[in-house]
Amino acid sequence: MAQPPLQPVRGTRDLIGEEFRRHRAVIETARRISALYGFEEWATPIFEDTRVFARGLGDTSDVVMKEMYTFTDRGGDSITLRPEMTASVCRALVSNSLVQSGLPRKVFYAGPMFRYERPQKGRYRQFHQIGVEVLGAAEPLADAEVIACGWHILQALGVAAGTVLELNTLGDAPSRAAYRAALVAYFSAHRDRLSADSRARLERNPLRILDSKDEGDRRLIADAPTIHDYLTPEAAAFYAAVKRHLDRFGVPYRDNPRIVRGLDYYNHTAFEFVTDRLGAQGTVMAGGRYDGLVEEMGGPPTPAVGWAAGVERLALLLPQAPEAPRPVAVVPVGEAQEGPALDLVQSLRRAGIAAEIAYRGNLRRRMERANRIRARVALILGEEEIAQGVVQLRDLDAGTQERVPLGEVIGRLA
Ligand code: ATP
Ligand code: MG
Repeated sequence: MAQPPLQPVRGTRDLIGEEFRRHRAVIETARRISALYGFEEWATPIFEDTRVFARGLGDTSDVVMKEMYTFTDRGGDSITLRPEMTASVCRALVSNSLVQSGLPRKVFYAGPMFRYERPQKGRYRQFHQIGVEVLGAAEPLADAEVIACGWHILQALGVAAGTVLELNTLGDAPSRAAYRAALVAYFSAHRDRLSADSRARLERNPLRILDSKDEGDRRLIADAPTIHDYLTPEAAAFYAAVKRHLDRFGVPYRDNPRIVRGLDYYNHTAFEFVTDRLGAQGTVMAGGRYDGLVEEMGGPPTPAVGWAAGVERLALLLPQAPEAPRPVAVVPVGEAQEGPALDLVQSLRRAGIAAEIAYRGNLRRRMERANRIRARVALILGEEEIAQGVVQLRDLDAGTQERVPLGEVIGRLA
């Protein structure tokens, strides 16, 4: 009996054809540009001990409270599919004893992340991120450099126009303590107008309220005090230095005191690159400084800064989809010519030229196949051509055809 066709799980998607090519272009561009800045690629497991994220993201974050894919495995351990990779990278730094020497380390990564969210355009349950982290650098130059690298990637992808860097500082510990008190005072006075989530945040992490997406909360947030009145001179100087370096790197930015980042471990610099082209899913790249995170993973105090970007959102913004590669079609006129045709297709591949041969059929069938795979050239081999050591080279765009000696084919195509 026929089975009903199976579907992908809600919020997950297959990447096929143009979608995959967009996806790959984003990752490959980021990989190439980040290498120019000295970032080395790491891969970590896609699942971790749940504590990596519970500690790393803080138990009041939306991600930890509502979005994690957590399960108990057959051995009884609590496992979580990674919702982001910064905590994993810090865990890996500590687990691999890389905290003692060789700092700062500059890490690039790309891979799938998992969050139980309401799926919509640009928001999925399995999505992909690229990201960079500088581990073990306290200097504002590190903040500016990771941002400059991100901007360079957005430029290389052709999505920088229409994208704005929104920049803020969360200050140091004393700045945050003073600001926290001011926020508690302000939001407490409007407690009854806050969403239930934000009322809970008021006790546990009032800064988080600034990140709320609730409409009512947003109206209150508009008039809330900003951190700038509470910065210590040191924190203000740090922020000024980040901006000075950004100016030098040629990265435009806009101050936005509402940028706080969703995760608990940020201090000093916080930023988002936001586009006006994706509606509510407009944040394409986001990050900041997280000096406390490596310690949460059991390492020594290790200042760090980085960002993560959503591959799906960047892929949607790419001005044009990368073209599918156009192979060369090797076309034996009949079955008798298949042997020499196989020799030819394989010698092309060894020379680095993408080449295909249809598995069966007469000349007409095989030429149809050549057109369907958008071959740029067909190399036609008949009995007579083989006897004379030549091929018919047909340019499928121009419609022209000529005889070329076998020995010259690779040179002609390269
Ligand atoms: P948002 O405010 O959109 O929920 P976030 O603050 O949760 O974002 P981060 O944790 O900072 O996002 O992740 C960095 C980037 O990863 C985001 O700016 C976005 O581009 C992408 N991203 C986050 N969650 C998703 C998702 N569920 N689907 C697709 N992309 C996502
Ligand atoms: Mg989110």
